[in-house]
Amino acid sequence: MNLLPFGKLPAHKPRTFVPHTIDLGAWPQIAPLFDQLEARAAECQSAADLERWLLDWSELSAALDEESSRRYIAMTCHTDNADAEKAYLHFVENVEPKLKPRQVALETIYVAHPQRAKLLMIRRGEFHEPQTENNNGTRIARPSEARYAVFDRDVKNHVELFRLENVTLETEDAKLCQQYQKLTGSLTVNFRGDEKTLVQMGCYLEEPDRALRQEAWELVAKRRLQEVDNFDEIFDRLIELRQQTARNAGFKNYRDYAFRRLGRFDYTPKDCTRFHDAVAREVMPAVRELHAARRRQLGLDKLHPGHLRPWDLAVDPQNRPPLKPFGPVGEMVSRAQKIFDRLDGELAGSFRQMQDLRLLDLDNRKGKAPGGYQQTLAEARVPFIFMNAVGQQRDVETILHEAGHAFHALAARDEDLHAYRNNPPIEFCEVASMSMELLGNEFIEEFYSAADANRARRVHLEGVIGVFPWIATVDEFQHWIYTHPGHSRAERAAAWLELMDRFGGDVDWSGYEAARANLWHRQLHIFTHPFYYIEYGIAQLGALQVWANSKRDRAKTLNDYKKSLALGGSRPLPELFQAAGCKFQFDAAAIRPLIQLAQDELKKL
Ligand SMILES: [Zn+2]
Repeated sequence: MNLLPFGKLPAHKPRTFVPHTIDLGAWPQIAPLFDQLEARAAECQSAADLERWLLDWSELSAALDEESSRRYIAMTCHTDNADAEKAYLHFVENVEPKLKPRQVALETIYVAHPQRAKLLMIRRGEFHEPQTENNNGTRIARPSEARYAVFDRDVKNHVELFRLENVTLETEDAKLCQQYQKLTGSLTVNFRGDEKTLVQMGCYLEEPDRALRQEAWELVAKRRLQEVDNFDEIFDRLIELRQQTARNAGFKNYRDYAFRRLGRFDYTPKDCTRFHDAVAREVMPAVRELHAARRRQLGLDKLHPGHLRPWDLAVDPQNRPPLKPFGPVGEMVSRAQKIFDRLDGELAGSFRQMQDLRLLDLDNRKGKAPGGYQQTLAEARVPFIFMNAVGQQRDVETILHEAGHAFHALAARDEDLHAYRNNPPIEFCEVASMSMELLGNEFIEEFYSAADANRARRVHLEGVIGVFPWIATVDEFQHWIYTHPGHSRAERAAAWLELMDRFGGDVDWSGYEAARANLWHRQLHIFTHPFYYIEYGIAQLGALQVWANSKRDRAKTLNDYKKSLALGGSRPLPELFQAAGCKFQFDAAAIRPLIQLAQDELKKL
């Protein structure tokens, strides 16, 4: 029984190194390929040899990557199938742990390789050792022209940061993160006689009945507060582990280590501070305006006290029933297709190709994992989109977003280096997806009447503006945490509250002070993906620029967009942004016109 939604997908380029008959779930068959690569490295006598070696290694990485993706997709599409679960866990438990040290070993060999300097002289578009030389007998390619510069930088960074003693600490870290997720996932409340998860409780915040919203919100807040000590306990231990990891690698604090670990070569903690300040100055006035408008629309200005409360933020301010963009999921696909048809012929073709190859599993049904994702099959070099659509406006946003990621994967298809093809920097991956939300929204009438289309655009744009303060809060909080070693829980809460004052807008929390002080417990990234959040802010600014450009010249903007996506991860961030027609800049001067644009557009709706 085939548990995958799609059929047989041939490799985009036929294998030349990995045997066709190999079982990629069996470590004894995989290990000899790593042995071969290790032995062959010593025989590389030229840059061309080393390049061939890199591409063979890349072929192996892609084959393993696709194997892992296929097992993950099968499992998430059939959570009730024991074989699918077993196959996935087998890979995670028996292949991946053995894989990591072998990958690091190859990276170490690469960094010390005598031909590495020559490899770096290969310019883009060349596939052999350069012919022309300068008078020293070598040719210098400018770093911006060197085909392997970004790869080299990333591998060198990885090797430099690697510490054997950190491997155990990272395992400990992962276990604590899993504890956090288990704790969060286990929380339920009893709401009017029914046991509900906190995620399920989220939909009551969209109910027009204010008393019901308050009841639902209070119940969740109270339930979380019962676990305050458990959350803090997990987090204290995580901080300790992380500071130790950083010290082992020679850093004075975890923030500086995390920046290197995340490969942030193109911006610094100072740039992040500039971003926080810019959000406070340029975005908060817009947020306060939106809060004031919401307060008026909800009729709260006629009440005493008439403040916006935490349970008033998700409901439609005019108390209308939820938007209904489509019925069966096939309708969502055909309407999204029409949006892409109107947007761009090539992208439309990509989306059609995904349907033909059955690379979409979008409907919500029993036995499917929650949430949504886009996963690239690294050898076939095609994307797969997973969703749980139930007919809400949120689903429309998600399909446009994930389609943007999928277009990215298809655009970079002809890049032979797996590292470039599959791992563009996240700050730019999200430009690909968030731009598609904004560009696609221009044609959202495919889903709605004219009035509802504007309502959908309004919800989306308010969300775009509203997310910046939360990003700034989450990011600045983490800067504080990891640069204040030995802080107490009370000091931490005080630091958080200061940020809530700065970025929380005009929401009245009186009577719920404890819930406010511990609100960060619900932000998964703070626990499981430290410092991994500002990426969304940087990317949203890129996406807003793409959108602004498209209003001036749609054809050119889409061309730039596609060209920049085709670069995959082969260029540093500022160059990727530049290729997409945007600036890689996130200070007040960059944010101001973009928030202005969003506000002007909101006024038109
Ligand atoms: Zn995304």
